Amino acid sequence: MKNNVILGIFLFVSIIAFSQKTYLHCGKLIDTKSGKVLNEMTVVVSGKEILSVDKGYTSAAEGDVVIDLKSKTVMPGLIDMHVHLEGETNPKKYLERFTSNDADMAYNSVRFAERTLMAGFTTVRDLGGSGVNVSLRNAINAGKIDGPRIFTAEKSLATTGGHADPTNGYRDDLAGNPGPKEGVVNSVEDANKAVRQRYKNGADLIKITATGGVLSVAKSGQNPQFTIEEIKAITTMAKDYGMHVAAHAHGDEGMQRAVLGGVKTIEHGTLMSEETMELMKEHDAYLVPTITAGREVADKAKIKGYYPDVVVPKALEIGPKIQATFGKAYKKGVGIAFGTDAGVFTHGINGKEFGYMVEAGMPAIETIQSATVTNAKILEMQDEIGVIETGKLADIIAVDENPIENIHTMEKVVFVMKEGEIYKQ
Ligand SMILES: [Zn+2]
Repeated sequence: MKNNVILGIFLFVSIIAFSQKTYLHCGKLIDTKSGKVLNEMTVVVSGKEILSVDKGYTSAAEGDVVIDLKSKTVMPGLIDMHVHLEGETNPKKYLERFTSNDADMAYNSVRFAERTLMAGFTTVRDLGGSGVNVSLRNAINAGKIDGPRIFTAEKSLATTGGHADPTNGYRDDLAGNPGPKEGVVNSVEDANKAVRQRYKNGADLIKITATGGVLSVAKSGQNPQFTIEEIKAITTMAKDYGMHVAAHAHGDEGMQRAVLGGVKTIEHGTLMSEETMELMKEHDAYLVPTITAGREVADKAKIKGYYPDVVVPKALEIGPKIQATFGKAYKKGVGIAFGTDAGVFTHGINGKEFGYMVEAGMPAIETIQSATVTNAKILEMQDEIGVIETGKLADIIAVDENPIENIHTMEKVVFVMKEGEIYKQ
């Protein structure tokens, strides 16, 4: 009898705890769908989801939690389409591949993921690493560690000697002969195998390096590195496995092949011609700007010895061009998907990208829409994230000021909720 009473009390308490709601009183609330900033709104959160969004400050029932964000601007959790959570820039980065084990990388990535979440980014695409990023995603999803929701490319696909060939610059006996299993592709057949291998390894999407890159130990930062047949094979095979394809590209020829070959996003887009901009609109492809990376890399290249000699001229030439190209592409009407390339620079300063986008001519509200509704759509997550609305996941952040008046407020996120759980307040 006594046991039954205790069990009864326990169940009652559990039900109360489970149905406890959180009321967010928001001084300003950004409706990312309409692009309007609403005043004095209440968002009610129950469990992982948004229960309602109401006008005015509604009062909570006893036992519910009220959070005062009356002096803040509230918006959906941000989405960064281009990060690398396994590592972070440092002067010894090029040595790390010989000195660092996956376990070292994993411990580091825990901190990078946490920093990213605390900066207001509740969802990211990890565009390539060694595979630790798959375990990181799984650990976050399982609630073992704190971090953003991750969509990972696992290992980028490159061609021999191309950007993301894992043994570029190695001496002969260490270089080996990496193939599709390691993400190196030299034919349509290799392309098919490399995509299937990524699926097997747990990737959510595919990343290719359509042109040379700045930070690889190789001469060209912009030459085309895949044939269009290889790219088509990759996008076709990826589609069979429910994955989209992101293409790193600085040079125009490789970029065009990628767009014609069916990729969804062009990363960086540095030397994009007007013709390619038109093609992107025609093929519904998006530009992921990564202006912050371009700037930070050009700055670091001025520090003697920070990068290998072969990287320095590429960093100085390519890095500073990204912002102007972004401005042109935006004005031409190319779809813009917010993304930074964090990891190439310090994790957690992703919010700086907003200021650079505004500086290049994109209105503040559109930069926020890019980092929310647009990116949610590309990830096919538009029914769950990117907007504060009844039934959506409760990914909610707040900043001190109205970003429409001061975009740099996006660099200091003061409140972070992901799936109804508060991580920063
Ligand atoms: Zn990158």
